[in-house]
Amino acid sequence: MPDDGKASTVSYDNSSRQNSSRPGASDWQAILREAVTAPEELCRLLQLPSHVAEEAVVAADAFPMCVPQPFLARMKPGDPADPLLRQVLPIRDEVASQEGFTEDPLGEQPLASSNGVLQKYQRRLLILSADACAVHCRFCFRRHFAVPIGPAASREIVNAWLAEINRDPTINEVILSGGDPLMLDDAQLLDCLQKIAQVSHVQRVRVHTRMPIVIPQRVTEALAAHLSNLAMPVYFVLHCNHARELDADVRSAIRRLRASGATLLAQTVLLRGVNDDIQSLLELFQTLVNEQVMPYYLHQLDRVAGAAHFEVPVERGQMLVQELRDRLPGYAVPKYVRETPGGTCKSPLG
Ligand SMILES: *Cc1c(COP(=O)(O)O)cnc(C)c1O
Repeated sequence: MPDDGKASTVSYDNSSRQNSSRPGASDWQAILREAVTAPEELCRLLQLPSHVAEEAVVAADAFPMCVPQPFLARMKPGDPADPLLRQVLPIRDEVASQEGFTEDPLGEQPLASSNGVLQKYQRRLLILSADACAVHCRFCFRRHFAVPIGPAASREIVNAWLAEINRDPTINEVILSGGDPLMLDDAQLLDCLQKIAQVSHVQRVRVHTRMPIVIPQRVTEALAAHLSNLAMPVYFVLHCNHARELDADVRSAIRRLRASGATLLAQTVLLRGVNDDIQSLLELFQTLVNEQVMPYYLHQLDRVAGAAHFEVPVERGQMLVQELRDRLPGYAVPKYVRETPGGTCKSPLG
């Protein structure tokens, strides 16, 4: 496969197999509602054998499956090893007992306030601003995380976040995470961002999201226009694990976000059978920098129960990163890091 990054972002059009009426291109909420949650349906759409579906039904019991159509449309039918499918398809390995893999590998649950505020790092405050995602990544480190927040971003909840931000003048950056902050509708999201922007000691806001990748229709012209009016630098960190995730619609969404004046970064989880080979990583990071999205972090997998089959040994990760350094400009090589419970920052792995 060519590694020049312009290459072959293959798109598999499964639309002929979808019998539901296709929602309007910009109606991201309809797309969200029509996400595929039944493993049998996913397997039928992708022409996968029935034993794959049976296994998926069992594994989805502990953590439900959720795959939005625009993401599904980029998968190759008939290929159980497709790198996009592997990230979302429940498999038997998830339910096997996994030594050293736990429900809260980062020890976050006791740290989160009842409003979903998490301050682990100095000067930055992380808010679990939405309690859902558009896609369920099987390796999610918060897959067992019950965030006790009520209706996402209600007025009371947003006020509670602001009270926490106002209480500590050392906080100069607010990070919206989740769940996925772009699950909030425009009114909720912008209300929250505008209020944060009014706090005098806050200098930047950061949004960690996978939404522009899985439902690019979420990034409407209207949203981009509103973002460009915020009186504060906005950073987006896009969760993206494979070049095939970046089809033409996603690249357009990225351009709309960029046109809003936001700075775009990417974070990637190193995943066995998805992107743990040099060609996949080269193609991913080159595609990202060609879209002016800067690779920021390459994460060592968090050891969450159910995800052991995704783990890549650190030595192999280090070897891959060294090879990336030899072959890419420095700015296209992300920092390879691991998170440790109780750590004051992420630890570099070389
Ligand atoms: C990583 C992380 C941060 C800080 O992110 P940096 O990009 O390292 O500044 C803050 N809060 C949580 C919970 C994180 O995981």
